[in-house]
Amino acid sequence: MNAQKEEKLIFEQSIEGACAANLPACDVPEIKPDYSIPPQLIAETAPELPEVTESQLTRHFTHLANRMMSVDANFYPLGSCTMKYNPKINEWAAGLEGFTNLHPYQHIDDVQGALELMYNLRKYLEEIAGLAEVSLSPAAGAHGELTSVMVIRGYYNDTDRQRDRILIPDSAHGTNPASCALCGMHTTVVKSTPEGLVDLADLAEKVDEKTAAMMITNPNTLGLFDSNITEIARILHDNGAQLYLDGANMNAIIGRVRPGDFGVDIMHYNLHKTFATPHGCGGPGAGPIAVAEHLREYLPVPQVERKDDKFILDYARKKSIGQVRTFYGQFSVLVRAYTYIRALGAKGIKQVCENAVLNANYLAKCLQTHYTLPYNLPCMHEFVISADRQKSRGVRALDIAKRLLDYGIHPPTMYFPLIVPECIMVEPTETETLETLDYFIETMQKIANEVISQPDLLHSAPLTMPVRRVDEVRAARQLDLRWKKEK
Ligand SMILES: *Cc1c(COP(=O)(O)O)cnc(C)c1O
Repeated sequence: MNAQKEEKLIFEQSIEGACAANLPACDVPEIKPDYSIPPQLIAETAPELPEVTESQLTRHFTHLANRMMSVDANFYPLGSCTMKYNPKINEWAAGLEGFTNLHPYQHIDDVQGALELMYNLRKYLEEIAGLAEVSLSPAAGAHGELTSVMVIRGYYNDTDRQRDRILIPDSAHGTNPASCALCGMHTTVVKSTPEGLVDLADLAEKVDEKTAAMMITNPNTLGLFDSNITEIARILHDNGAQLYLDGANMNAIIGRVRPGDFGVDIMHYNLHKTFATPHGCGGPGAGPIAVAEHLREYLPVPQVERKDDKFILDYARKKSIGQVRTFYGQFSVLVRAYTYIRALGAKGIKQVCENAVLNANYLAKCLQTHYTLPYNLPCMHEFVISADRQKSRGVRALDIAKRLLDYGIHPPTMYFPLIVPECIMVEPTETETLETLDYFIETMQKIANEVISQPDLLHSAPLTMPVRRVDEVRAARQLDLRWKKEK
């Protein structure tokens, strides 16, 4: 990966006349098109695209790909994001021609197989949630939250219009309050106890006749399962409010606990996290939502249904919040999630959650000697450590993260949740071997020793990456778009 010569931009590699594709000369007369585009909108010169050979093109992008940290090349313990390996069989299934060549405007009779897959996935997700109905439409976790808040709002528009407030624990993912705000709801923060769980007294004080719901992540972003969850559900239900579960990372409980059984009324999944779709650089994703009986009629359209032997798309739901995504949602992600569930089977899904929890506890226990563990074990699928001891020697969690790159490990999630100083949030996932976990432990211990013996080295890490420490603020504010054509 290291010691490469600097990679020129593809534009800088341009050689006049070079071409990656070799097309035969045109053997039919050229016809001037009859433009319906206004002439002032038509460019007079061709776009300045790079002219390169096929080898230049291939090598350029292969070089760039080789510089990447990725789940296929590196351990990637990003907490609250579930970056596990992406089984190649998922990619095979999503790449099948019968799926990739579908057009969303095709007649319903010609897409029965695709609809059957969606219908079956819907049923699997309903069973895993222990809830009445799933909608596959939302295109990401945050989009699932927004859709859910719209469903909740739809429900209260019919039943109790004054409810416009949503309670959110202080350990929540940032998208939770953002989705509420986008939907015109107000948010109120509920405190955590020193043990990292929802403070029941604070909840009881804040819930009232204006509360529409509480959004909770369980296990929460500290990696702890809130064992008071049925009590939390009772408090909300007694006050006429809904319990919403942020189910972005279900690894710790799928196949073992059904959210519907612990009082959840509505939730979202992140198929791209728990159900293994590659989602580097922010996409693609899918965030299906699951709802209890009383919220069903508000779900978005279209809904994929089975009518006798045929699969249909139902648009005729009177109280539906409407359509939240073009066509049927993020279809190729649905194919991957379906493949993942079918490949594992019911037993395999349960094994996923057992291994995820085992791996996280193993790491947390072994890291305890060199780093502070602010919350007690056992954890679920992830946990947080604090680099507060290292900070007292002038080395921050960020420096540790950068140093991990030199050892070939993608850094964990940093500085989140906000309630833990110098927070490092680790999620190994269920798919890592003991050897990989041990390598991570050894590396973290080595770095803890470096903090004591050579703190300056930590400040200049990474030492071996193609790009060293960047000024992130400046990089975002002053984009350096280097290429300028020489006139
Ligand atoms: C990732 C995540 C989200 C947001 O999901 P996106 O698909 O990135 O929109 C919400 N909540 C939690 C706990 C998450 O980890």
